[in-house]
Amino acid sequence: MTFNDLNLNKPLLQALTDLEFEYPTPIQAKAFPIIMSGRDAVGIAQTGTGKTLAYLLPILRQLTFSKQREARILILVPTRELVVQVVGEINKLTKYSNFRVGGVYGGTNVNTQKQLIHDGLDIIVATPGRLLDLILSGVLRFKSIQKLVIDEVDEMLNLGFRTQIINLLEKIPTKRQNLMFSATLTPDVQQLIQEFFKDPQMIEIAAHGTPIEKIVQQAYHVPNFITKADLLEHLLKSNSDLNKVLVFVSTKKLADRLFEQMVLKFPNQTGVIHSNKSQNFRLNVLKQFTEGDIRMLIATDIIARGLDISDVSHVINFDMPEVAADYIHRIGRTGRADKDGIAISFINDLERKNQSDIEQLMNKQITLVETPQEVNISNVFSEEERPTKLFDKDYLQEKKKTRPSNAFHEKKKKNTKVNLGSQMKRNPKHGPKHKTVKPPKPRL
Ligand code: ADP
Ligand code: MG
Repeated sequence: MTFNDLNLNKPLLQALTDLEFEYPTPIQAKAFPIIMSGRDAVGIAQTGTGKTLAYLLPILRQLTFSKQREARILILVPTRELVVQVVGEINKLTKYSNFRVGGVYGGTNVNTQKQLIHDGLDIIVATPGRLLDLILSGVLRFKSIQKLVIDEVDEMLNLGFRTQIINLLEKIPTKRQNLMFSATLTPDVQQLIQEFFKDPQMIEIAAHGTPIEKIVQQAYHVPNFITKADLLEHLLKSNSDLNKVLVFVSTKKLADRLFEQMVLKFPNQTGVIHSNKSQNFRLNVLKQFTEGDIRMLIATDIIARGLDISDVSHVINFDMPEVAADYIHRIGRTGRADKDGIAISFINDLERKNQSDIEQLMNKQITLVETPQEVNISNVFSEEERPTKLFDKDYLQEKKKTRPSNAFHEKKKKNTKVNLGSQMKRNPKHGPKHKTVKPPKPRL
């Protein structure tokens, strides 16, 4: 099946040809006739399967030219970056038609957005927060909305947007077509569907044979931040295949710390993005990375959600996500739309638990790779790496048991004792900045 087999029009077909898209993905082929029929629909397909066009194509196919000011299509997405991305996709698809599209999101000048709305729009793409502000201030009215899309619903609910979504839904005319797209059908998503959708058609594409399967997954067992940073540097220096590398870290603080270190080694090739950066900064650095001006982008999970950056060669999990599903989201940033991708995870002792959760979820093992000789295995553990272990619930329970059950616990206990002691002596509140906790691991 090609795009010619769908009931598309000339402007859309021409735009698709320009994009060099020939075949609809399974979710696009399946969703098209259903959305065209006008009924409510829910599309579930793994990340990277082309869900954006799955709803944009039928919507744009049915949209007619109009001079009315009030928007007829509303698309909700979880992050500002996604607003920009979806607006970009619409612009590409409407190159040969005459529609007005606007993006609305927080962190930027509200007056510019008010003006945009005042001038009139056909399609609004928005994050829920700013959209609600604009409605409450009376700038925006929903009475002409005919179609509503909630994209990346699972993430939207994860990010706590439920109340805002419901508030918004209650303000839109009930006579409308509801569309939802998500990578997973969680109980939260199901509940939302039940509350607001009228007999929706479910469009599900089985996870089988979808992008994740094409991603080569590798892991290194490395003890701490310093070793991980050294390994990252080594991989970047020794392998030019790592040309567009997305590095995930779990916190903003770690992202900044890693950035400061890597930018010294790879000046002009390194960027960082997280939610404490200004909106301008975020959009700029993302653009640099997307366009290949920088080689590596260090990011937290929140920022990278749902983002589609083409040709990411490698996703590196500098640390392992707590939630196993986040691993799938992360590695799904590579291997998109029929391309291959490589995901590399740096795993310390504490993170092995996360690794096994992830492997269980995927029903697949991550291939363990030997740490290269050139990498220095550090025995210095940072402040952040310690407390998790010290005050780990399991550990405290272990400690209550007087009898150590095996050598591993013995060792754990011993290390902790040493550390606690010195911490208390130096400063009861803040531990020492760096503390040697165990001898270097023997090199394999
Ligand atoms: P999802 O929302 O399912 O994670 P996206 O809609 O972001 O996926 O699409 C993933 C990538 O696939 C994007 O780069 C998009 O441009 C590309 N893409 C979408 N549809 C097609 C297609 N039919 N042919 C080739 N590439 C496509
Ligand atoms: Mg998407």
